Amino acid sequence: MLQLQNVAMTYPNGVAALMPTSITVPKGQFLVLLGPSGAGKSTLLRCLNGLVKPTRGDITVEGLGSIFQSGRALREHRRQTGMIFQQHHLIGRLSALQNVLLGRVGAHGTLRSLFPLPRADRLLALQSLERVGLLDRALNRADELSGGQQQRIGIARAMAQRPKIVLADEPVASLDPATGEKVLADLHRICREDGITAIVSLHQVELARRFADRVIGLVHGRIVFEGTASQLGQTILDQIYTAAPLHMEAA
Ligand code: ADP
Repeated sequence: MLQLQNVAMTYPNGVAALMPTSITVPKGQFLVLLGPSGAGKSTLLRCLNGLVKPTRGDITVEGLGSIFQSGRALREHRRQTGMIFQQHHLIGRLSALQNVLLGRVGAHGTLRSLFPLPRADRLLALQSLERVGLLDRALNRADELSGGQQQRIGIARAMAQRPKIVLADEPVASLDPATGEKVLADLHRICREDGITAIVSLHQVELARRFADRVIGLVHGRIVFEGTASQLGQTILDQIYTAAPLHMEAA
């Protein structure tokens, strides 16, 4: 279980990106964040990974307590939290396998252990590639792969970390709709199989409807909707997307 208690974030330039927000995410839930650009979705995900420290409130994780209580707690939280980014942040000149192995580095603490990693790590990385259907591409350079394949490598890298939590910031935004759906289906399936708690920001409402156990709609840093995917009717969508005067996005 993951809990945000009155978490708020105001950046040093004075932008109040997230108003005091409390959310409890049960273990294994696939939670989708919806909202127009600038709604605070990335800020919320960055707070959850401790990349930014909220200006108010606290984040607690089952078995760990507050992630901000000490540097050690934050490191442990990050070790058990996989990140997936829109631009996947792969190293293009490295092979798919080497990129996935980077997901194991945190488990060993220091850069000293980067290469060669123990055999068990290489096996785990190969298994992660197999789970996203890319075992046969293990030795290809990452930059030779298609966008969908690169994002699958990003997912495999996060999974090689054996995470309890996955945070994904618009993971399929740069893919065409059909590929995006398949890639998200892979992420969803693996999270289900492993009981991983996932918090995923999306801008495709259909994907939220298809995969989310629960949806949170954010506008101007505030929760305006919280419910199941089946409750995501047109009135709610209007509330989420038309309430934002600056960046209207297609629903
Ligand atoms: P979303 O992910 O929903 O598009 P963000 O969390 O990126 O929203 O942004 C929320 C608000 O915070 C926006 O007004 C944005 O301009 C602002 N913001 C985001 N990151 C920073 C930053 N590093 N410094 C200052 N303002 C920021």
